[in-house]
Amino acid sequence: MSLYTMKELLQDAYAKQYAIPAFNFDNFDLLMGVFEGATEAQSPLILQITQPAIEFFGIENVVDIVRNEAAIRKLPTALHLDHADNLEIIESAIKTGFTSVMIDYSEKDFADNARMTQKVVELARPFNVTVEAEIGQVGVTADPLSCSSISTDMMTDPQAAITFKEATDVDVLAVSIGTIHGMKVKEMQLDIERLQEINAKLGIPLVLHGSSGAREADLKKVINYGITKTNVETELRVTFRNTLEKMLAENPNEIKPRNIMKHVREAIKQKVIQRQTLLKSAGRIAMSVKS
Ligand SMILES: [Zn+2]
Repeated sequence: MSLYTMKELLQDAYAKQYAIPAFNFDNFDLLMGVFEGATEAQSPLILQITQPAIEFFGIENVVDIVRNEAAIRKLPTALHLDHADNLEIIESAIKTGFTSVMIDYSEKDFADNARMTQKVVELARPFNVTVEAEIGQVGVTADPLSCSSISTDMMTDPQAAITFKEATDVDVLAVSIGTIHGMKVKEMQLDIERLQEINAKLGIPLVLHGSSGAREADLKKVINYGITKTNVETELRVTFRNTLEKMLAENPNEIKPRNIMKHVREAIKQKVIQRQTLLKSAGRIAMSVKS
């Protein structure tokens, strides 16, 4: 079974109003925990990785491991390059077997962002690779524990989103509606009305970055208004670290890596099931399997 494009998975989610959590990974055991969770939840899976994490892992390893596990488990899986701003990296991901890429020029001005996104769309189309871009800025928090709201001028302007979509023909759009990357507390205030307006005008699958900091009640709402992918990184990192610390403290003499890491995998697995259940992607595999 080959990997799915992200577009295939998100179109089903868009039509049926659920979201697929996209999990970042930079470690084998974390990745296996995610696969185990998605297998148990019977959810389509989006795995994503950033450029520094690819360098740590090795790009061929990333593609091979994800392909193998997806095939063994018969899980509809997309492999996505997260937050890239470099054409060389994007091209190498496309040619190595990624089925989706994000071009993030959101900090540049509108014209630069549109021009670069257009280039990536041209590059990706012949390979049937999905393209995600971002309009507005999600940003990164300086203080993961304090909940400050983001300024309105960083949020996605609905009219700008339409002009951007028309100019670039991008498949999937990340929008800024109140989340910030890196939050450890789940208290961010989301601008649901803004999302409703964007969704009504745009009609393509939307992405919520920084979803670790969103309240669960808000996540349940946004899936009704076009959010089909929610990125999760911080929550898994916190789980990884806390579980490892606890395991080592409780078992000071354990030296077998597999005995240590199985606890981490199990904790990651449970988080993944929780997220997929919350966003209603759990149990959707039959609907997503290619005929
Ligand atoms: Zn992001």
